[in-house]
Amino acid sequence: MAGRFLAALTRGVATGVSCWLFPDHCRVCGGELIELSRIPVCASCLTSVQPLQADYICHQCGTPFSTARPLDETGRCALCRAGLIAYDAAYAYGYYEGVLQQLIHLFKYERVLPLGKVLARWMLAALPRQLTIDLIVPVPMHWWRRWRRGFNQAHVLARHLARATGIRLEKALRRRRLGVPQAGLRAADRRRNVAGAFSVPHPHRVKGQRVLLVDDVLTTGATAGACARELKRAGARSVVVLTVARADRRIWPIALPGAASQQLVSEVV
Ligand SMILES: [Zn+2]
Ligand SMILES: [Zn+2]
Repeated sequence: MAGRFLAALTRGVATGVSCWLFPDHCRVCGGELIELSRIPVCASCLTSVQPLQADYICHQCGTPFSTARPLDETGRCALCRAGLIAYDAAYAYGYYEGVLQQLIHLFKYERVLPLGKVLARWMLAALPRQLTIDLIVPVPMHWWRRWRRGFNQAHVLARHLARATGIRLEKALRRRRLGVPQAGLRAADRRRNVAGAFSVPHPHRVKGQRVLLVDDVLTTGATAGACARELKRAGARSVVVLTVARADRRIWPIALPGAASQQLVSEVV
């Protein structure tokens, strides 16, 4: 019995190793892979990911706009002016679309964890050089969801960032409520869904610190905002959000069909 179990386990490990080390096709474009790599994505797909570019960006929340109209004379958008954005700044490498979206899905849902290092390198490139950070804090996942997924993608990215920069990583936030998944919810519902969901169990660890809050994707900023609010309540001096990608509000109406797009437009403009 034990022998059979061991054999099955070895077979499983061997299959895992062979598909990690000898992948045959790129998981994004389907093209043949020639180089030996733990990342089953070809070099041309990886180099095709372009950094975020926009003519008009809110100085505080980093939201890109196609015109200057949503921004006031200080360069802030309506949500920031209304005090709905609790973080001091937000940076992301690219838009949550195309190849970058596929890479994040591979990393997050298909457990291609070696991609984390590549994504973290891009995140670092999106961060202004002059920024001073004392502490890296990942957006937490409820224990039940983490147990089901097996890892927290924000924590994996934060660990790579901490290693690359030498800045301390602190799991300062706890998620006390599971809530429904944010995907599919409108901006206001997202804010309600995460209100009171986070806590800082040891406030002295963040007091006076300039925090870099890390997540994979920034959509409406509701989750990051709720986390930032708790960190500041615990005494954090500043909270800057860093993600791999952000949903571009300008492309939502095009990307979503009919009524849903109208709803989102009225929600975010
Ligand atoms: Zn490819
Ligand atoms: Zn803003």
